[in-house]
Amino acid sequence: MRYISTRGQAPALGFGEAMMTGLARDGGLYVPETVPVLTAAEIAAWRGLSYEDLAFKVVRPFVAGFFDDAELKRLIAQAYAGFGHIARAPLVQLGPDHFLMELFHGPTLAFKDFAMQLIGQLMQAALARTGERITIVGATSGDTGSAAIEAFRGLSNVDVVILFPHGRVSEVQRRQMTTPSEANVHALAMEGDFDDCQSRLKDMFNDFAFRDRVRLAGVNSINWARVLAQVVYYFHAGLSVGAPDRPVSFTVPTGNFGDIFAGYIAQKMGLPIDRLVIATNQNDILDRALKTGEYRTTGVVPSISPSMDIQVSSNFERALFDALDRDGAAVQALMDSLKQSGSFTIPAPALAKLRATFLSGRASEEETADTIARLWRETGELLCPHSAVGVKVAQEHAGQGMMVTLATAHPAKFPDAVERATGLRPGLPPRMADLFDRPERVTCVPNDLAALQSLILERTGL
Ligand SMILES: *Cc1c(COP(=O)(O)O)cnc(C)c1O
Repeated sequence: MRYISTRGQAPALGFGEAMMTGLARDGGLYVPETVPVLTAAEIAAWRGLSYEDLAFKVVRPFVAGFFDDAELKRLIAQAYAGFGHIARAPLVQLGPDHFLMELFHGPTLAFKDFAMQLIGQLMQAALARTGERITIVGATSGDTGSAAIEAFRGLSNVDVVILFPHGRVSEVQRRQMTTPSEANVHALAMEGDFDDCQSRLKDMFNDFAFRDRVRLAGVNSINWARVLAQVVYYFHAGLSVGAPDRPVSFTVPTGNFGDIFAGYIAQKMGLPIDRLVIATNQNDILDRALKTGEYRTTGVVPSISPSMDIQVSSNFERALFDALDRDGAAVQALMDSLKQSGSFTIPAPALAKLRATFLSGRASEEETADTIARLWRETGELLCPHSAVGVKVAQEHAGQGMMVTLATAHPAKFPDAVERATGLRPGLPPRMADLFDRPERVTCVPNDLAALQSLILERTGL
């Protein structure tokens, strides 16, 4: 399988290179040149498989030629062994035709673990072949960073550097990043918001001399391998609620558009997904873009669902690329406009295509808190604020067949918001109960590319 850039100017790569490269050298994102399409009978034959066996079936064609079957099976088994639930992504019923998929049973209690634990295994295996050393740099609104650190801590051939917005992540999120004591873990609290962190990360990737010198690798959701790992749980949920005989819709709490884009890939592969509903918090650029056709950044307003406090939604570029009939130059023109004026207009035919697949909605802060309280009363289910945004928007789109809402984090990751809404303070699972007793290690950094680069050179000794 080959991967091409959404901006059409970077070389096509195989899976291993696309995974190690992250952002394409023309500033674009890698997407598969073609997506394998399955028949309903082929999908039906996957019913009843364990999560790991299903992951093997879904991932296999995308990594063909890079991992053989035996190695892929072993890496998948290792990736999910540390999860706290044997079903990996259990479904909970919220209403007659509404299910919640709990994606928070991994080591850092957010759905990011599904992709990060697998990419950790895949990258390690790839590095072991060459003896190469890499520097992973990630920008995080909170959950990517901890998931990446958990996946790469202690590895001898990897340094993992995480940029998070100073003072804008929850205490549990921060402690998950600052308490690992391994020398290859570097948690950096940067001045600014998540979009600033993501911009500096992109700057580092666009500085080719620096990029090559530290052998920079990215694990943000711009990395195709992460999207791929997330495709699996759409099949897992779909098969559990009646696919392929019955269509299913998904509502996805969205920030960087990575998670929901994985649903789009599952749909392209033949899973009968009726609607993919984008759920945003008050940082609602995607909801506005879909409704008005204008993608316009307005500045991030901090919310109680901080992992979705994003304006520049990187993976949206992948959906645009398809909607623009895979015209890399057209994507490049829109991205240039975004950089220059903070906005672009989605051409009408592309907007129509996006609207045929994606619906959208938003939840205000008050609506999010009300949803946490109401679901607790009505179902005894304690939602994290991100998942509550999803449930609120899903319920607005109810009554048209089976709906699965993705629960993206454990409520104990955001205990203050949950306690304010319900009066109940969710506790951490026993396996991480000592998080608040462990010493923290963090470096504060300015929003400045040169300063970041020299710190990374110093830390890695490269
Ligand atoms: C990252 C994250 C999201 C948003 O996911 P995207 O792939 O960026 O859309 C939603 N909820 C939680 C808890 C997250 O950590």
